[in-house]
Amino acid sequence: MPHLSPFVVGLHQWLLALLCLVPLNAQAAIEVGALTGELNLGPHVQLLEDAERELDIEQLVGEGGALAWQPSRQETLNFSFSDSAWWLRLRIENGSSKEVRRLLELAMPLHDYLDAYVVDEHGEIVSQWQTGNRRDFDSRPVTHRTFVLPVYVPAGESRQIFLRLDTHDGLYDATPLYLMSDAGFLAKAQRELMAFSLYFGALLALLIYNLLLYVATRERSLLLYVAYLGSFFILMFTARGFAFQYWWPTLPTFNNQLVPINIGFFALMLAVFSNSFLSLRRHAPRMTHVLFVVGGMCLLSSLPALLGHYAPLFRLMIPAAIVLSCLLLGVAVWRSLQRDTLARIYLVAWGVLLVGVALYFLRVAGVLPYNLVTEYAVQVGSGIEFLLLSLGLAWKINQFKNEKLAAERATLELQRSLNERLEVEVEQRTHELERANQRLTALARTDPLTGLLNRRQFHELVEEKLQERRRSGLPLLFAVMDIDDFKRYNDAYGHQAGDEVLMRVATMLQDHFQRAGDRLFRLGGEEFGILLEADSLEAGQHALERFRQALEQLRIPHETSCYGVVTGSFGLVCCRDCRKVPSAMALYRQADLAMYEAKERSRNRVVTRSIAEVLE
Ligand code: GH3
Ligand code: MG
Ligand code: MG
Repeated sequence: MPHLSPFVVGLHQWLLALLCLVPLNAQAAIEVGALTGELNLGPHVQLLEDAERELDIEQLVGEGGALAWQPSRQETLNFSFSDSAWWLRLRIENGSSKEVRRLLELAMPLHDYLDAYVVDEHGEIVSQWQTGNRRDFDSRPVTHRTFVLPVYVPAGESRQIFLRLDTHDGLYDATPLYLMSDAGFLAKAQRELMAFSLYFGALLALLIYNLLLYVATRERSLLLYVAYLGSFFILMFTARGFAFQYWWPTLPTFNNQLVPINIGFFALMLAVFSNSFLSLRRHAPRMTHVLFVVGGMCLLSSLPALLGHYAPLFRLMIPAAIVLSCLLLGVAVWRSLQRDTLARIYLVAWGVLLVGVALYFLRVAGVLPYNLVTEYAVQVGSGIEFLLLSLGLAWKINQFKNEKLAAERATLELQRSLNERLEVEVEQRTHELERANQRLTALARTDPLTGLLNRRQFHELVEEKLQERRRSGLPLLFAVMDIDDFKRYNDAYGHQAGDEVLMRVATMLQDHFQRAGDRLFRLGGEEFGILLEADSLEAGQHALERFRQALEQLRIPHETSCYGVVTGSFGLVCCRDCRKVPSAMALYRQADLAMYEAKERSRNRVVTRSIAEVLE
């Protein structure tokens, strides 16, 4: 229009702009011609609540001015629990001299339904998409885990973008909205992919490492850690949109069901793992039950997702998860105060994660600026958390090993000392038994009144001696002694006094016959046997004679005896060749015969005999 004055041109352009703006409710346009980085659209969009869900794009474009559009003023849009559909609009203009392409990203991979429209200055829809997490992955114009929409703006023109957000079941997530240039998107996508690859790679490495460690050690807490980390990994991989993009792009329903069920499972695994990590079964058994019940409630409350109900389950699960977290933190603080190292490691691990979560939410709420730290705080926090827990497990296993070793040592020590005590006791008992045996044997061998060997011993010892002398050819001397008129003594002085005489005679015998081979027996009543250690009959006779005289000299009164005192008669046999004596009894009979001869020869004398012939 070269004939028009500059004023008219200016007026014309101004009127045109005015015409365009009025039906669009005079929304300020965002200049995107020179946009390089990423622009957070949160505070720039206008919102319209569609409670009846009956508005469509034609109505919005047609009667835009009449509707109650509100500026959002939020850093990050968040509708939380809402049964309405929400419309968003914004206007962008290109003040540059060539057409630009800008990418609008709705950076919430789990958002259900997104209908987007690009409207030109004449109110014509130039592009539109129906996508969202509940639609197949290929409904997205750009293959990406979040929703990225390409908007073309010719030079000097503006475009209005309408977004209709809706949910399956009235549950909205925080919805960050960005506008970027191609280069800006590429940089952001690469940065994110690098960060997430490192993050998921680190989690996967921890998971595989601990799984292998479990296979090697069969330590149950390692398996629980792997299950806990595994459920967290799948949860994050799904929540960040990677699972839908790479694993099951044609299964949106399954993808949506998996998130809450995985959260429930993760909560239960968190309870089970923490219980094992903090050894609560030992330290706080009641708490174990409470944790399992609350964890189980989280999992149970996720099950309605299988029937397509999401919002109600989160109303149940969120409080249960908060209770679970508070319980876990409470019990960890309590155990830490009791100087439990593992509880302290657990607290630090949780603390790091909580700091990460807090940073992230403060950014979402617009309190903190958007930067690398606030963007990836949750990832860094959870990565460090799992690393610390893994270190804690290693420490725990080492502690177990040490405890086991100490217990083994203590058991060994106990066993050793018990063995020692047992040995001492056995030795004592053996000793006592030996002494008792000796006493028993002595009792069995001796005569209780006089303490001399008894008649049974006479048989055994004399048989032995005979056997020995048969081999050596040495002579054997044996004597029998009988107290004279003892019946009368008993009659005169009493049985008691008689016993005393028997004892005194026995003592005297022991005093007189003390050679190594001498053996003294009480053969019965007032009759004694003497096995003499002497070389000849004469020597034996001499020894007996001395004893006989000594007995007489003892002068034990015996009024009814012709000697007036207690005396004895002795029969001594000497066998020079013991092969002629077949048994101890034969020897005894010979000595007895000699003794009777002494009795016949007025008693109180020693009669000797030599065995010359073979005895019967
Ligand atoms: P002899 O001179 O002929 O041997 O006459 P004796 O009276 O000694 O012999 P006899 O065989 O007739 O009597 C043995 C007595 O010994 C009978 C019994 O009263 C006594 N006597 C036997 N054993 C014991 C005993 O253990 N204690 C006492 N006090 N007397 C006993
Ligand atoms: Mg007698
Ligand atoms: Mg007698």
